[in-house]
Amino acid sequence: MKKEQFHIPKGVIYLDGNSLGPLPVAAAARVKQALTDEWGEMLITAWNKAGWFHQPGVLGDRLAPIIGAQPGTVVIGDTLSIKVYQALAAGLSMRPDRSVILTDSGNFPTDLYMAEGLIKTLGNKVELKVVEPDDVDNHLDENVAVMMLTEVDYRTGRLHDMDYLTKTAHANGVVAIWDLAHSAGALPVDLAGCNPEFAVGCTYKYLNAGPGAPAFIYTRPDLVDKAEPALSGWMGHSKPFAFDKNYVPSNSIERMRVGTPPVLQMAALDAALDIWDDVSLQDVRLKSIELSELFIAQVEKRCPDLSLISPRDSGQRGSQVSFTSDNGYALIQALTAKGVIGDYREPNVMRFGFTPLYIDREDVLKAVTILEKIIKDKSWDQKQFKQRSEVT
Ligand SMILES: *Cc1c(COP(=O)(O)O)cnc(C)c1O
Repeated sequence: MKKEQFHIPKGVIYLDGNSLGPLPVAAAARVKQALTDEWGEMLITAWNKAGWFHQPGVLGDRLAPIIGAQPGTVVIGDTLSIKVYQALAAGLSMRPDRSVILTDSGNFPTDLYMAEGLIKTLGNKVELKVVEPDDVDNHLDENVAVMMLTEVDYRTGRLHDMDYLTKTAHANGVVAIWDLAHSAGALPVDLAGCNPEFAVGCTYKYLNAGPGAPAFIYTRPDLVDKAEPALSGWMGHSKPFAFDKNYVPSNSIERMRVGTPPVLQMAALDAALDIWDDVSLQDVRLKSIELSELFIAQVEKRCPDLSLISPRDSGQRGSQVSFTSDNGYALIQALTAKGVIGDYREPNVMRFGFTPLYIDREDVLKAVTILEKIIKDKSWDQKQFKQRSEVT
């Protein structure tokens, strides 16, 4: 759909945009401009002249339509782990008489770790309850303060029914927090329609803003001036440059800002968001399903040793497809050596992301041909492909 707007190295089929999106061509120039024309020439005056100070809110408003959010409800900053903490803390403070954070075993570990850390800080009065993904609705009761879920499972691609679970949470007085790490830019999200209290996500996966790009947080419009900011940094103050002794939160979504924004990475995000101006998420979703179905059918036909662990029904799957194999790690390394980049997650999962902005049918067919060849000629079975790297 937009292949020419990305830098994809020659000979590479990139099936890992669910983990780190590729470089948008325009981002290189935009970051260079921020470096030389803004930082270089304007120095500190760029906070005003180049609009650095307002980037978190301005870019939040640009990102909002991608996740179905209203203007003034999204702000950019920090990393997703931090945003999870903020949303959780704010959610818990809305239900002081309840003591359970409910999540599922498919959630990404950092979301669970951040919850554990927050619980300790709060004196262990709150419990983290981890249930099976299919069983979440059965555990939404009057003890649960917050339901914290990731819509798309990072390992299997399993997609939660966000609308149903949010409604069920609300019917039980539970605050809903959705992590959209594998949803934003991958499939249509309707935050305004679904109406959860909070949502968070990152911009370096399907939104292609680069390694370490800042995260986003959404707060429902009726809560933007009420949500309790646990990380009460000066950039979320109502008047950061009054340098008051006491913290008074901004009466807007800006209260979810913490400290100084990563300006250069924001420049990359700005360029990455340009690509979405004329892209329909419905089209992205349809094409992603088409590519994923093609991949599943071809792999099952040509590589019968691999087992699908993603849901077979495309309506219950995000934009990635995962297969298991005991030799998964070595297979992924051997594939990467041949230019087909997917990734591996413990204990035996091979993940492939389908991002129609820069992947087409021809890429999918080529990728399966290479996968089939590696399995048939056993070229994966070499020491160099079994040596674990630190980052997998
Ligand atoms: C990728 C991902 C993260 C990463 O968090 P960072 O703080 O940005 O490193 C967190 N949660 C989920 C669900 C993810 O998929």
